Amino acid sequence: MKEFEELFYKDPYCQEFDAKVLSCTPAEDGFDVLLSDTAFYPEGGGQPSDIGTLDDAHVLHVSRTGDGVVHHADRALEVNSSVHGAIDWNVRFDHMQQHSGEHIMSGLIHHKFGYENVGFHMGPDVTLIDFDGTMTWEQIKEIELEANGIVWRNEVIEAAFPTAEERTAIPYRSKKELSGDVRIVTIPNADVCACCGTHVSRTGEIGLIKALSAVRHHNGTRIELVCGRRAYFDDVEKTDAGNRIMNLLSCRRYETAEAVERLQNSSLAKDRTINAMADQTLKIKADTYPAGGSLIIDEETGIDINALRSFCTKLIKENKAETAAVLFAQGSAEDQINYLIMSNVRNLKEDARVLNEQLNGRGGGRPDAIQGTFRAPIEAIRETLSERLK
Ligand SMILES: [Zn+2]
Repeated sequence: MKEFEELFYKDPYCQEFDAKVLSCTPAEDGFDVLLSDTAFYPEGGGQPSDIGTLDDAHVLHVSRTGDGVVHHADRALEVNSSVHGAIDWNVRFDHMQQHSGEHIMSGLIHHKFGYENVGFHMGPDVTLIDFDGTMTWEQIKEIELEANGIVWRNEVIEAAFPTAEERTAIPYRSKKELSGDVRIVTIPNADVCACCGTHVSRTGEIGLIKALSAVRHHNGTRIELVCGRRAYFDDVEKTDAGNRIMNLLSCRRYETAEAVERLQNSSLAKDRTINAMADQTLKIKADTYPAGGSLIIDEETGIDINALRSFCTKLIKENKAETAAVLFAQGSAEDQINYLIMSNVRNLKEDARVLNEQLNGRGGGRPDAIQGTFRAPIEAIRETLSERLK
């Protein structure tokens, strides 16, 4: 029998309590406090620790050591004094909703596929659950619907400490890692599992169970899950985003993906047309240069790099210039000018080194073609190129 009362097991809904301070020792960034009793749940079994207050002290983390529960507080408490503890109920109830929801999903998946839950991490935004077998998204959605059916049935969740003998007759999950007192959490029609966490008393309190994604993970499946209040706020975000997309694309509620796909296809078709037109325009432009020039410096905006490359190639090939440079703006950086330079007489690799130095640039390439960016005013770039490449 433990000498102190674990109120979080006796009554998971206990939010405030009085206890005696058994010890208080300085620790890194605060004090480690042991109490006669506690309602603070210590981190364990995938469930994060509670936070809250002991009188004026903030409890920042709670962990288990042997049979004890250590409260990491931000100020010292007098040994043998009586303190009033209060846990942050919003945080704890959120953990209870996530944990109970996770059990239902894991129990149903175990029952249907025989997979074990081999990893459980309750993060600040989502809960990650790893299973040792693969499932399709459709299969997970089926399980999710069944899990919410358990929520709607408002089943009573029970936790008990059966004896070792009694346990042999109970077909519960997570049999392996446990010795000594084993707490069994039972959710009728969904799950029986060894667990040290805190749970809601009836499944209805979970509110909603929602899988957000599933990916392959170590030959198994990792599911991102949100329950209760988290699932509600996830839905609020998605509803707002969905409504915005609906208005922007003037489409119906469940047809946003198709509308985006149509938009994407039409945008790609436009890109192709624009690129073909740019190509044509640059060909005509190249023809206007007389043959036999030494250096051409050209400026373009909003034209595809491939079209610029064929423009440059054409200028060199048709002897319009020995060296051709195209300057063009692209992307978001305002003070940045892109360059593409080709030549059939120079060693441009060496030019790139000098030009980059003079014009705060970067980039390079082959002796007959270089590409990169300059960070300098366009007039300075033109002047430097004329000087260097003439
Ligand atoms: Zn559990």
